[in-house]
Amino acid sequence: MVTEFESYSPDDTYGFGYELGSKALPGQVFILKGDLGAGKTVFTQGFAAGLGIKDSVNSPTFTILQIYDEGRLTLYHFDVYRIGDISEMDEIGFDDYVYSDGVCLIEWGDLISDILPDEYFWVEITKDPEKGFDYRHISIRPAGE
Ligand code: ADP
Ligand code: MG
Repeated sequence: MVTEFESYSPDDTYGFGYELGSKALPGQVFILKGDLGAGKTVFTQGFAAGLGIKDSVNSPTFTILQIYDEGRLTLYHFDVYRIGDISEMDEIGFDDYVYSDGVCLIEWGDLISDILPDEYFWVEITKDPEKGFDYRHISIRPAGE
């Protein structure tokens, strides 16, 4: 089943992320796809708040992974934009996080599609200049659909 959402502001995107975070289940993996500045991190910030995480969440671009364990479920927030080689994911123990009881949100996860688990959700954020500078279309679909 595909869920579509129309966002007209960062707050809308945050709120949508919040809603998903508050309903997230252990072991879920979300792959965030969208250009630089699409709103992947804003979505993640809302999602984290929905899990009950109070720490501020930023893009972990220079660390690949940031872990937040103060919420209802542990959040593993990845940004794999700058990985040079997929073996770097093995080095940080990617499988341990993906097959855990926490939730993984992976910005630019489409870059590591070769090593994703069988089950995950695509979160695709796209702009539409005709609908305004702050407009974002967000779709969520299970892998394979
Ligand atoms: P990404 O992580 O995808 O590179 P960010 O979430 O870091 O992008 O940044 C998104 C930027 O776009 C922020 O500066 C935010 O204020 C702005 N923005 C404008 N409209 C929206 C919207 N509808 N949803 C999310 N962010 C938006
Ligand atoms: Mg980001």
